[in-house]
Amino acid sequence: MHDTPEPDTGSEHNGFADLGLRAELLATTASLGYEEPTPIQRETIPVLLTGVDLVGQAATGTGKTAAFALPVLNLIEPGAPAEPTALVVVPTRELAVQVSEAMFKYGAGQGVKVVPIYGGQPIQRQLQALDRGVHVVVATPGRAIDHIRRGSLKLDRIRTVVLDEADEMLDMGFTEDIETILEKTPTERQTVMFSATIPPRIEAITRKYQRDPVRVRIGAGQTAAGKTLVRQTAYIVPRAHKASAMGRILDIEGATSAIVFCRTRTEVDELTQTMNGRGYRAEALHGGMDQKQRDRVMAQLRDGSSEMLIATDVAARGLDVDTLTHVVNYDVPSASESYVHRIGRVGRAGREGVAITLVEPRQRRLLGNIERLTKQKIDIAKVPSVADLRARQIEVTVEAVREALAADDLDDYNPVLHGLAGEDSDRNLALAAIKLYHEARGATTDEREIPDASEDRPKKHKKKDRGDEHYGPGSKFTKPKDRPKGNVGPGTSLVYVGVGRKAGIRPGDLVGAIANETDLVGREIGPIRIADSYAVVGVPEAAVQTVVDALNATTIRGKKARVRPYVD
Ligand code: ADP
Ligand code: MG
Repeated sequence: MHDTPEPDTGSEHNGFADLGLRAELLATTASLGYEEPTPIQRETIPVLLTGVDLVGQAATGTGKTAAFALPVLNLIEPGAPAEPTALVVVPTRELAVQVSEAMFKYGAGQGVKVVPIYGGQPIQRQLQALDRGVHVVVATPGRAIDHIRRGSLKLDRIRTVVLDEADEMLDMGFTEDIETILEKTPTERQTVMFSATIPPRIEAITRKYQRDPVRVRIGAGQTAAGKTLVRQTAYIVPRAHKASAMGRILDIEGATSAIVFCRTRTEVDELTQTMNGRGYRAEALHGGMDQKQRDRVMAQLRDGSSEMLIATDVAARGLDVDTLTHVVNYDVPSASESYVHRIGRVGRAGREGVAITLVEPRQRRLLGNIERLTKQKIDIAKVPSVADLRARQIEVTVEAVREALAADDLDDYNPVLHGLAGEDSDRNLALAAIKLYHEARGATTDEREIPDASEDRPKKHKKKDRGDEHYGPGSKFTKPKDRPKGNVGPGTSLVYVGVGRKAGIRPGDLVGAIANETDLVGREIGPIRIADSYAVVGVPEAAVQTVVDALNATTIRGKKARVRPYVD
């Protein structure tokens, strides 16, 4: 499927031994469980060991860190004086920490000292760390310059400068800083760039600061094993249905840890609200958040207390989350390169991953661009139907009950059974217990069918997308006037909200606002109907006044709306 098959070296034994690395590093990589070098490692490490300059290009998650780290560490003798001989420049604080941890780990056999320096951390601590002596400095550009100016980062012994995620640094406007840093390091240095993509701006840096660099490029989508382990699927979904489509797809996929990419901060915040409103544990991650908040949400995803991180590209770039199962492109990235970066978040180093892309009908063309860049086909699938979702929920419940049957503490629950003795048949007791589990899991009774646009010709859906949109359980009514009360589930009442489609209101906005301001959760909210200038939302009868008061006291999508119980 990809056109750049890795060269087969035909070696049966551990391939690291062939690269020319010192014994300590071979021992360390073996102890980390690295069995074979990844393609980028195999191609670049022997070259870097000769000391020449290099530009290395490979998709995210293909092991670029070790590709530059191992050769750098190879030069450090155990017990060597602790003065910086290598400087690694990275775009973000997270990467500084991540790369420095990796280099520390790889260099542990030689006692290598590594320090990350980045903005946002008190400079005092970094001054002390630098003062105590280090072999390798991993820095963000601004903070590196700061330390160079203070004299706390000495560059006269630097042998290697690595620019990691070079494309990203240039995108983030660090070009000048990088030039400053390169100009202050010894001219006989080795200059190494690693990047997932090589835009023209990198070429400019190359011409100015590298000497006859060797270029190594590994095709996208390859992993340590040289196989594509990321399953890539796209769904064609009208904009208004994207949030529910995503929730349903992730439900069916059984996603436990996902990163969802949005284009803007606002989109991140809105979608996070919507998904929480629908009962997902979702957290936002974007550049507008301070470091503490970002660390917190990353930790939550890693330890499983959140199941979904909704992020912008910049904020999530380069992060390596071991547990990640799914990457979702909430929009087709308009730059195909971002797609490569994003899906690099899963399927790392031999694990299997899934990349899901939601495509609005008018964005179909962009998919083709991505397929051309990655030289891989993206399958177009149908959005799962309500029946699919039900079937999946039943599967999950059956599996859970099976597992519980195998547990050895079943007898602990005997008192409950005794308490119910004789009240009904075993069968009905079992059914009732299953019902409770099913509901507690949040297996929603989601009744909406999401229109499938995967076969639409671009002309057709134009018409289809106009007119009132209907969402929510039991939303069978078609026009406001003939909306018979009977179609709204028992116990559900309607609330009138005086903003509608003209104000840009989408179902998610209403669900989000209500879930935010009241105790209700997403699955208790609906049906939702949005007309041009107003919307009608179903909520539990008992909560009508609470919802009305809460919505009157807040704004929806930044707009004040008149809200009252709905009367026909
Ligand atoms: P990149 O910088 O290309 O995005 P990383 O350097 O962050 O990728 O590596 C991704 C993951 O692969 C890390 O978890 C790393 O520990 C692992 N890894 C790197 N090299 C190997 C290897 N040779 N075998 C197995 N796992 C590896
Ligand atoms: Mg990297």
